[in-house]
Amino acid sequence: NQLLDVVIIGAGPIGLACGIEAKKNGLSYLILEKGCLVNSLYNYPMNMTFFSTSEKLEIGGVPFISHNNKPTRAEALEYYRRVTTSWDLKVNLYEGVSKVKKEGHFEITTEKNQYVAKNLIIATGFYDLPFLLNVPGENLPKVKHYYDEPHPYFGQKIIVVGAANSAVDVALETYRKGADVTMVVREPEINPRVKYWVRPDIENRIKESSIKAYFNSSIAEIKKTEVTIDTPNGKVNLENDFVLAMTGYQPSFTFLKSLGITIGSDDMQTPAHNPETMETNVAGIFLAGVVCGGLQTNKWFIENSRVHAEMITKKILQSDA
Ligand code: FAD
Repeated sequence: NQLLDVVIIGAGPIGLACGIEAKKNGLSYLILEKGCLVNSLYNYPMNMTFFSTSEKLEIGGVPFISHNNKPTRAEALEYYRRVTTSWDLKVNLYEGVSKVKKEGHFEITTEKNQYVAKNLIIATGFYDLPFLLNVPGENLPKVKHYYDEPHPYFGQKIIVVGAANSAVDVALETYRKGADVTMVVREPEINPRVKYWVRPDIENRIKESSIKAYFNSSIAEIKKTEVTIDTPNGKVNLENDFVLAMTGYQPSFTFLKSLGITIGSDDMQTPAHNPETMETNVAGIFLAGVVCGGLQTNKWFIENSRVHAEMITKKILQSDA
């Protein structure tokens, strides 16, 4: 096995940016991705629009042209495909990393092969592990932790759990495509971080009762045709066809710990790293992209974490010098 300068785990926008920096600087590298290219973006809602303007999502100096100033999911998929081909990046898709051992260098085991590298960049994001409701009935097929498109919910009684951006977008889109929507929200109000241009829409739909909402409430049990919720006025049973649990996602702390990375004892469980070099407490292992934030999944996004690629490459080159 050839000794690589760096293996990058994850072909999201930031993993790709790291590959580009490595290539630009003459480092030997390989990107390993467990799913398709930019797998998280592929699994975003079909009709989503990014909140960033397209130039803020650019990597590797490749211009991102979109029809409107804020690109769609389809345009972003096209863009990152084009970036990958125009930089001729070495990306192995459908090859998840299951184990890493440090024996002097890093031995990386995937479903298909083994690799050896001097450095490792973890750019695994947080979109693979949803926060579960942990209630009876959660494993019924009608309970979804990812939302794709509204059509399947036409004419159906659905419950949307949560009140942050994803939940609000799902509630509005399914309502407009003919679903009977009830929101169940643990907090007393719609999340203050909901996009300012969307907030009046959801608040007014709730006020006029075209979307029903139970605040200070949570799901107690899910059955085939019914859901029980705990509300400030006691238990309420709702007829129900689908539950869309938009309760957020978290990075795989199990994977990070298996690499020897220390997880902070702060509320956000921030994985230990030097904010100037992005190197973790394990020498030669770096964090890039949204995984750095631990549970604070709204801290980093493409726009503000693209720079990690340069910071990491600079440190790798310095260490090699
Ligand atoms: P990801 O894109 O999540 O990539 C991680 C990759 O690692 C995935 O492809 C995953 O399959 C892979 N992976 C995980 N574990 C393994 C393993 N063990 N082995 C191999 N591969 C693995 N950000 C913005 O800047 N602007 C926006 O407008 C914006 N809009 C958003 C809208 C929505 C609905 C959502 C959910 C997010 C949005 N974001 C936006 C956030 C942005 O998408 C993320 O910040 C971005 O995807 C982070 O990139 P990343 O490369 O760090 O992680």
